Amino acid sequence: MARYVIVMDTRRCIGCHSCTVACKVHNELPTDMVYNPVVQDGPHGTFPNLHSRFLPLICMHCDNSPCVDACPTGASVQRADGIVHVEDKKCVGCLSCVMACPYGARYHNHETGAVNKCNFCMDRVDQGMVPHCVATCHQKARIFGDLDDETSEVYRLIKENQYIQLLPELNTEPAVYYLI
Ligand code: SF4
Ligand code: SF4
Repeated sequence: MARYVIVMDTRRCIGCHSCTVACKVHNELPTDMVYNPVVQDGPHGTFPNLHSRFLPLICMHCDNSPCVDACPTGASVQRADGIVHVEDKKCVGCLSCVMACPYGARYHNHETGAVNKCNFCMDRVDQGMVPHCVATCHQKARIFGDLDDETSEVYRLIKENQYIQLLPELNTEPAVYYLI
């Protein structure tokens, strides 16, 4: 079975927000919802020697997902390949998962009443394609793949580079790896 992950190469991200916009357009998100914001750290230094770093955020598709545990209706589920998603029809909008998620990756959709989040574009993944944000990133700062496949690019990148995962002390085992 596959274990899908995203590797974010922060050395390549230029903070253009193309990924944010691509996700928003393709998922037809309401104005106040963004699944994958890009956070700027900086600028640092003194003019004209300035630099910034960018951190693309997204649902971490945690292996130990507190959002799934918190959901009282079974609307939040994790597939065998690691993708965490919400079954809209089962969601009663109680916001338990929103409060349980330490990454702020869940959003209450005021138009539908359900909670929504990134699902790694699982419909595309099931057809052999990569998520929209990955396909859009012209910097190739977002790399999607199967970590259980030793021939995959994500496997090689994690093997050969230094990386961090966000909030490792919570033991959520995020499926998003940041190359630093
Ligand atoms: Fe960074 Fe790529 Fe997103 Fe642009 S599209 S902000 S380069 S991750
Ligand atoms: Fe759930 Fe939040 Fe982890 Fe995503 S980042 S799987 S919404 S706990």
